[in-house]
Amino acid sequence: MSELTDSELVPLCLEHNFWTWAAQAQVEPIPISHAKGVYFWDIHGKRYLDFNSMVMCVNIGHGDERVIEAIVRQARELPFAGPHMATRPRARLGQLLAEITPPGLTKFLYTLGGADANENAIKLARGYTGRWKILARYRSYHGATYGAIAATGDPRRLAWEPLTMPGVVHFLDPYRYRSTFHRTQPDLPEAEFTQDYLNHLEEIIHYEGPNTIAAILIETVTGTNGVIIPPQGYLQGVRALCDRYGILLICDEVMSGFGRTGAWFAVDHYGVVPDLMTMAKGLTSGYAPLGAVAMKPEIAAFYNERVYQGGLTYNGHPISLAAAIATIEVMKEDHLVERARATGEVLAEMLAELMDRHPSVGEVRSIGLFGAIELVRNRRTREPLAPYNGTSPEMTALRRFLLERGLFLYTHWNVILIIPPLIITPEQLAEGFAILDEGLQITD
Ligand code: PLP
Repeated sequence: MSELTDSELVPLCLEHNFWTWAAQAQVEPIPISHAKGVYFWDIHGKRYLDFNSMVMCVNIGHGDERVIEAIVRQARELPFAGPHMATRPRARLGQLLAEITPPGLTKFLYTLGGADANENAIKLARGYTGRWKILARYRSYHGATYGAIAATGDPRRLAWEPLTMPGVVHFLDPYRYRSTFHRTQPDLPEAEFTQDYLNHLEEIIHYEGPNTIAAILIETVTGTNGVIIPPQGYLQGVRALCDRYGILLICDEVMSGFGRTGAWFAVDHYGVVPDLMTMAKGLTSGYAPLGAVAMKPEIAAFYNERVYQGGLTYNGHPISLAAAIATIEVMKEDHLVERARATGEVLAEMLAELMDRHPSVGEVRSIGLFGAIELVRNRRTREPLAPYNGTSPEMTALRRFLLERGLFLYTHWNVILIIPPLIITPEQLAEGFAILDEGLQITD
């Protein structure tokens, strides 16, 4: 194969790849060359500060030699093994995960990524309970496979809806900024607000019939829909409803897991143990493809006896497992969970300052290094700067400006997400916020 020239890179990537992102994005794909720490560079030598951990996954930062070495070591020693083999990485990763996941979740099913993990969790919940419906939230994203896209509550599901898994019913999440309950009663105390949403969920359970509902699937802290952090009491309430009606609780920690919120998993902030918990992204920090479903042993026992697992070729690939082990070890060695908590406080201060300075910032939210900025046309009416599932000239102009200035981040409709690698320093955060500060003059 002849060497590619720089100018061929983007056109050739576009020519034969089914690449919806590139087709729909209003900015050109970045011809990336290499990455290190919290930065990456394009082929022209331009440096970008990565405020999105690439795809909200490179939690330990780019190019960590310890993980690269572990991958190379595994590739030399045993690059592949079938499901009938007991491998060292399989033994070790299970042990490590059992130490950091909520108590009682001691069995792990490995998958290829996040959607696949949710798909398996749904299949498993339906098999285990003998019920078929799944309750999931609006403003959630769970992936794009058959069941995962059906459970997804945001408009990305709409194009697929007639073709996806039937039996999914969506409910409202306690999104205070755009809440109907809050709008009509702006001073509603937190506990009553939370109870209103739990009542809403319980009504849906009654309407649908508790005996038809296999699981409630929720992102513990909603990711791409704008870091919606449940108030204390909400998740505990959902857990109690699940227990009352024999429904399994599945928490999707694909984005919120592995230190992102300043805890190993977001459920840790609420003391809630789900029946099944899905993870991916931060599990290998993007160094290799891997997802997992953590589960209670009784569910695993049922699965072992009754359900065909599948994915026997690549699920639990030794190289991916080795990458996950090294990632978790790096996180422990460098105290990245604690670091995310501490730097998260700095992020919260910077967000509050940004809100003080810019009228187009309607609300800021964050937990650990998981932050969001809600952009509005008018603070009083809370009219979003771009429609849900759409964009606006202002948002497009802002995105272009930030990229031009070398700040890489994800905007979702009217929300800016700030999801940097957990190794980011306060100085590097400030570097990004200075660019944001300038950029927001476009939207003010
Ligand atoms: N669940 C959540 C919360 C996610 O944010 C994502 C991806 O962004 C997924 C599931 C799907 O993961 P994957 O892209 O690995 O299929």
